[in-house]
Amino acid sequence: MAKIPHRLYLTEDQMPKQWYNLRADMKELPDPMLNPATLQPAKEEDLYPVFCKALAHQELDDKTRYVDIPDEVQEMYKVYRPSPLIRAYNLEKALGTPAKIYYKFEGNNTSGSHKLNSAIAQAYYAKEEGLTSLTTETGAGQWGTALAEACAYFHLPLTVYMVKVSYEQKPFRKAIIHTFGADVIPSPSNTTEAGRKILAADPNNSGSLGTAISEAVEKAVTTDGCRYVLGSVLNQVLLHQSIIGLESKIAMEMLDEYPDIVIGCAGGGSNLGGLIAPFMQDKLTGKADPRFIAVEPASCPSLTRGKYAYDFCDTGKITPMAKMYTLGCEFKPSPNHAGGLRYHGMSPILSKLYHDGCMETVAVEQTKVFEAATMFAKIETILPAPESAHAIRVAVDEALKCKETGEAKTILFGLTGTGYFDMTAYTAYNEGKMTDYIPTDADLQVGFDKLPKLPGIQE
Ligand SMILES: *Cc1c(COP(=O)(O)O)cnc(C)c1O
Repeated sequence: MAKIPHRLYLTEDQMPKQWYNLRADMKELPDPMLNPATLQPAKEEDLYPVFCKALAHQELDDKTRYVDIPDEVQEMYKVYRPSPLIRAYNLEKALGTPAKIYYKFEGNNTSGSHKLNSAIAQAYYAKEEGLTSLTTETGAGQWGTALAEACAYFHLPLTVYMVKVSYEQKPFRKAIIHTFGADVIPSPSNTTEAGRKILAADPNNSGSLGTAISEAVEKAVTTDGCRYVLGSVLNQVLLHQSIIGLESKIAMEMLDEYPDIVIGCAGGGSNLGGLIAPFMQDKLTGKADPRFIAVEPASCPSLTRGKYAYDFCDTGKITPMAKMYTLGCEFKPSPNHAGGLRYHGMSPILSKLYHDGCMETVAVEQTKVFEAATMFAKIETILPAPESAHAIRVAVDEALKCKETGEAKTILFGLTGTGYFDMTAYTAYNEGKMTDYIPTDADLQVGFDKLPKLPGIQE
């Protein structure tokens, strides 16, 4: 009999009642967000047209270390949390590694991902402020689903602009969003000026995340009581996602364990930022010194090959500018299957930590990721989201290194979600039709050339 259980769930009483704001413990803060009109650091009021007030405050608050989770949000968290911390005994055995492998599984809700943790918080604050509707965009669909779940709970009408090609390829994503009562509009659409312009020039345009964002933002600023919400990258989203790391840390303490290595996939950085938060706090305050590894797809390598520069968070260039590792907001990732990791930039908090040498990064190729995903599914029984499988890949690689050196390291990785809507990708892999795409330096240069030129700040 193993001493440590396969799955550890906290009780409701043990669940964190506050989120943790990593910025409060950073020795140097990320460079401030800039208002693109004035090139001055953005003030809270500058953000009000886009975000509700409480969230604008959280976005810029780099001092408050712990933020109370509102009671209503805690109640909703309890419907699907705590998420289990799982000891991957089968995986360890299959690899023949002395390493101890743990993962935190965030796929136990209908959105199939961690995104619900922030969707609930953002919908709650919008409702509190008396807003009457929300808009957002969705590419792969997890964020649109998560926000539809949250808006259903708080009785907030929601319009989701879904990239037209995904809308057509993932009819069940659309069906779930409808079931939760939200509107889904394929983008480009004729419901906005931005959409109409694109359709006039090209009636068969299949859409992009950038266009969907432009449509959602236009809808928000032209509709009374409506705001636009984003599911990753932002500081507020990392704050909400700290629930992942806080729960993990409590559970590991109960097991008398502490990770030597913490691994997560990184798209915009929200799950990774949330998972590592309390462990990074230990590193920043000198209490422990674990390694942190951000895993990104080789096809969209913002940390490993991007530039640390001011850039827009959206392709539509409407949002404030953030200093982050970026491939340029006009970078077009190749159509590959790492859906939720295809973002041009990286959370400013994670970017700064990486820049300061507190975190490592690895870029992995898609076929290697699916090899790890299918191996994991067969022995651990969870069909991972392709995004999550990036973390599995590197956890496996680190465990295999332990096998060589004989070190019994403790590895913790984030399993962000399930892959039931990604069966086209799994089918391509199973049929040997999956390819790896790595952009050339010339491909990346096209994106870098379009980075904003800011006199006196960046040329
Ligand atoms: C969106 C998503 C990601 C990537 O987003 P981050 O903000 O980098 O966490 C990873 N995994 C799943 C399952 C997702 O839905």
